Amino acid sequence: MTTPALDIIHLNKTYNGHHAVDDISFSIEPGEIFGLLGPNGAGKSTTINMISGVTRIDKGTITVFGYDNQKAYRTTRRMIGVMHQEVVIDNFFTIDQTLRFHAGYYGIPDDPQWRTTLIDRLGLRPHLHKVMIKLSGGLKRRFMIAKALIHKPNLLILDEPTAGVDVELRHTLWEFIREINHQGTTILLTTHYLEEAEQMCKRIAIMNHGKLITLEETHRLLQQFGARRVMVRLNRPYPELPNGLDAFSVEPLDPFSLRLTLPNQMTVSELLIVLQRLDLPIVDLETERAGLEDIFLQITQSKEPT
Ligand code: ADP
Repeated sequence: MTTPALDIIHLNKTYNGHHAVDDISFSIEPGEIFGLLGPNGAGKSTTINMISGVTRIDKGTITVFGYDNQKAYRTTRRMIGVMHQEVVIDNFFTIDQTLRFHAGYYGIPDDPQWRTTLIDRLGLRPHLHKVMIKLSGGLKRRFMIAKALIHKPNLLILDEPTAGVDVELRHTLWEFIREINHQGTTILLTTHYLEEAEQMCKRIAIMNHGKLITLEETHRLLQQFGARRVMVRLNRPYPELPNGLDAFSVEPLDPFSLRLTLPNQMTVSELLIVLQRLDLPIVDLETERAGLEDIFLQITQSKEPT
């Protein structure tokens, strides 16, 4: 069995009696792009901060490529690169200065070739000698990715990396992150842009109120929750709604066509059996695929704690 890139076991964090992270466990395979999603206040940042060692763990363990991040803190710190949500920068240093010195902070010698790659791939070259305080928001984000990667971490954690970034830059950043991933870096990502998570992540975990409420391969998640609305075209017009469809929310579209919302757990093939039993032969069927956005709402709203 391969050692997971990240293994979280029964992790807990309480602030003044409030469970910010409530007994979560999951692991990430090496080379994966893993999405950690959840509404504001779900506990994502607290989890990330415990992984990177910024926040103390109350209970549970975190291992990074087999190293316990409390017992072997210096080793795991070197293995992890974090791009935090808030822009944390040293205002009066230049991009060049910060990148030159930052690897040393992790006890890793400066690698000019890697530094040059990061600078060029992230479009930082024209801005190298500007002090941080003078950088635009988008530039700061690009710089923060470079800073998170300067010591060549095995696990890159991106907390809302593209928040407030324009579409073009988002595209560039994602392309770069994919490239880094192809070169072997494991990625843990939180994002509000669910479409991005859908495209980027192999698996997605959803947190709500400190708990992990779903962990699924992205394509399965989309399959499982994805085809809830179905449009059927019947072989003859129905002036009135056919009887026997009480289990569905039915919306007539025209005399031939209905839109049906499937109850939870029901599959499209089960719907076909129901229609057949009711002697409602159909000539066409189309499923409306829900995006992660709809699924996210379904899951976080249906699993509110009691
Ligand atoms: P997310 O990143 O998913 O938006 P957070 O991890 O930031 O969620 O927050 C989870 C919960 O923990 C929230 O209720 C938040 O108010 C609380 N929290 C986070 N950090 C602190 C802190 N330093 N002190 C007190 N409460 C905190």
